[in-house]
Amino acid sequence: MTLYDVTIIGGGAIGFGTVLGLQRQNPYLKICLIEKDEVVSNHQTGHNSGVIHSGIYYKPGSLKANFCVEGRASMAEFCIENNLKYDKCGKIIVAYEEEELPRLDNLYERGIANKVKDLELIGPERIKEIEPHAAGLKALYSPNTGIVDYREITEKYSQIAMENGADIRLGTSFEDFWDPKTVGQNLVLETSKGTIETKLTINCSGLQSDLVARKMGVAPKLQIIPFRGEYYNLKPEKKDLVNGLIYPVPDPKFPFLGVHFTKTVHDGLVEAGPNAVLAYAREGYKKININPKELLSSLTYPGFVKFGLQNWMTGLKEINRSYRKGVFVRDLKRMIPEIKSSDLMSGGSGVRAQAIGIDGTMIDDFAFEFTDKSIHVLNAPSPGATSSLVIGKYIANLAIEKISS
Ligand SMILES: Cc1cc2nc3c(=O)[nH]c(=O)nc-3n(C[C@H](O)[C@H](O)[C@H](O)COP(=O)(O)OP(=O)(O)OC[C@H]3O[C@@H](n4cnc5c(N)ncnc54)[C@H](O)[C@@H]3O)c2cc1C
Repeated sequence: MTLYDVTIIGGGAIGFGTVLGLQRQNPYLKICLIEKDEVVSNHQTGHNSGVIHSGIYYKPGSLKANFCVEGRASMAEFCIENNLKYDKCGKIIVAYEEEELPRLDNLYERGIANKVKDLELIGPERIKEIEPHAAGLKALYSPNTGIVDYREITEKYSQIAMENGADIRLGTSFEDFWDPKTVGQNLVLETSKGTIETKLTINCSGLQSDLVARKMGVAPKLQIIPFRGEYYNLKPEKKDLVNGLIYPVPDPKFPFLGVHFTKTVHDGLVEAGPNAVLAYAREGYKKININPKELLSSLTYPGFVKFGLQNWMTGLKEINRSYRKGVFVRDLKRMIPEIKSSDLMSGGSGVRAQAIGIDGTMIDDFAFEFTDKSIHVLNAPSPGATSSLVIGKYIANLAIEKISS
């Protein structure tokens, strides 16, 4: 049996970003990546808004802020170098009510503190120049925000990883592990297709990451709660209503950015969304996808109960918007007053792996746990895809330290 230096669980942007990070630092490492599905990026990475964020929203000094600013530049460069779809279409974050103005100014200050380049506060006339159909009192303009296809990017990561010698095993699920205390100095992972012996394991399994960590003997003080985000698409004949990205000023209590208009790199397709409702299964992309065990586990988790008690009003509003297109359209009308329900058709959805602490707080920043022989990525929210190369480099540094100690 081959002994691997590092085995990564999960073939999304973070798992593959980590493989590339490791290979860049030490091309001689023996690396294996296992992915339970038959294709890469089948979950969060392949079901997101496709935005390269610039780093405006995040608390200065946080991992999110540090990863995103460097991540934006490295992601844009990666797409250009590899001839992948990339459009630096720019973004406006718009305030519609007087009460939102101080929060918009705060975002500008955060962006400046995070060293986001070329940010500009603009008034209604300039808003109209950038987005002729948009309303708004004042906006924050980020010309360097762009759009990409993270599925295409991860496929490229995978191709490069394989060309550089990584063993990529699709359709191979992590099932269990044998503790090195009982079997010698290396970990033995049990997978759906046999065992793997490895010096170190990195858990990048997104929506399953807390469960995988628990199976590996780690007891994180958080649980992944799946939040589905649903999108509508603008009908093709209406796509010219939007030139780039139009976002509202987000509610600072939540890590989600609020429903927005997102131009995509797919023939100018424009999405509107995503909302944020509890998914009834960890991989529950549709309202009808219900996994009773997973749903019960979310509903009975004390952290989620506390979170629900504190935020029940917002939760009810999100559910109402999820089931009633008219409510969704009403929110979109704030951004583009002329939009009508008939301009929109049902689109896709994604499920966010949002870690909630036992005390009911939504964990805002990236979260990791470590043991001697494992690294667990336990919260990798947006801008995780933007930052995947930088997060990969960060994890690779930690991994190399561990295997050389
Ligand atoms: C609706 C939505 C919109 C978003 N928009 C953006 C955006 O515009 N820009 C941005 O930067 N970020 C965005 N994000 C966040 C971004 O998508 C994530 O941060 C990123 O994709 C996380 O990558 P990951 O590799 O950790 O997880 P994933 O992509 O979910 O990958 C985890 C992988 O692990 C595999 N796996 C799970 N269990 C096992 C097991 N037991 N064995 C083997 N494999 C396993 C899964 O099959 C999966 O492929 C968005 C997320 C969502 C959901």
